[in-house]
Amino acid sequence: MHIKDKLAACEKAGKPCFSFEYYVPKTAQGVQNLYDRMERMGSFGPQFIDITWNAGGRLSNLTTEMVNVAQTVYGLETCMHLTCTGMEKEKVDNALKEAYNGGCTNILALRGDPPRENEKWSAVPGGFRYAKDLVKHIREKYGDYFDIGVAGYPEGCDDEVDPDILLDHLKEKIDAGGTFIITQMFYDADIFLDWVQKVRAKGITVPIIPGIMPIHTYAAFIRRATWTKINIPEKWMTALEPVKNDDVAVRDIGRDLVVELCQKLLAAGINQLHFYTMNLATATRMVLEGLDLMPSLDSPVPPALPFKSSLGLG
Ligand code: FAD
Repeated sequence: MHIKDKLAACEKAGKPCFSFEYYVPKTAQGVQNLYDRMERMGSFGPQFIDITWNAGGRLSNLTTEMVNVAQTVYGLETCMHLTCTGMEKEKVDNALKEAYNGGCTNILALRGDPPRENEKWSAVPGGFRYAKDLVKHIREKYGDYFDIGVAGYPEGCDDEVDPDILLDHLKEKIDAGGTFIITQMFYDADIFLDWVQKVRAKGITVPIIPGIMPIHTYAAFIRRATWTKINIPEKWMTALEPVKNDDVAVRDIGRDLVVELCQKLLAAGINQLHFYTMNLATATRMVLEGLDLMPSLDSPVPPALPFKSSLGLG
């Protein structure tokens, strides 16, 4: 089912919904652990999950395999990230074919991060330059088969800090056929809500799904905020900095701060929350409990079916 239709159903039911992002692990054990977690977290009731595409396409076979397993074995509505980094057109087409064959109907179309060894992003010969080119290609090749999401940046992105220019480029992605937006993580609800107004003023009407990063540890919280160059409200630093060496206190206070952030979004009429899980369940579950969005789990969830990756990861 298309994500936009799932979102419309949530909107109609007037109930907040949520979704989970997972990244592709580098080892076979990591993959099995993630399958276990996906199945367990599937019982929390996400509308969909999405699986990232490794910069440079190095683990791309694993992304397509995991998308396929999540969709067909665990019955989770799955969105596959797909990037232009290091991807000739033929590789893009193979990935789309795999997604299609696995019953996946949702793609998050991205330009992609530069590969780790490169500082600057550059297109491969015969590849795509911008996410909008990828969106256009998917629409030309598959019509309306795929629902296509694109990335939005309330606080600027790595190689473009001017929010107005980014809004123009966001509009191009939607005009090319994007049907929903997932945003970069943020901790300041006001910045996000102001940005939503600017997006709407541009004539962009598709659903906007805010990216929420639960707090696992203080070090990870600071690292990710620094990496994405987002604002940390002073209140958050005042609350977290004094307990930074106490992981339990960081998680408890972090939960309260993230719950408050989500409540502000929900009160402003934002109905869908997208959690960057970092492949971990606890911090996300704590936020959902704080928001009263966890279903009651009366019966224990059975362990995931063992699924052996065909890719020979060690
Ligand atoms: P684009 O929208 O194509 O923008 C890239 C740059 O080009 C920007 O600076 C933009 O301003 C500029 N630009 C766009 N159009 C034009 C134009 N017409 N003329 C001139 N300049 C233009 N990265 C991964 O590698 N794998 C992932 O799985 C992944 N998942 C992500 C999920 C989300 C929700 C988000 C927010 C980001 C994710 N990223 C991922 C990171 C993302 O790929 C990078 O931030 C990347 O630098 C930008 O990708 P984009 O799709 O926004 O690109």
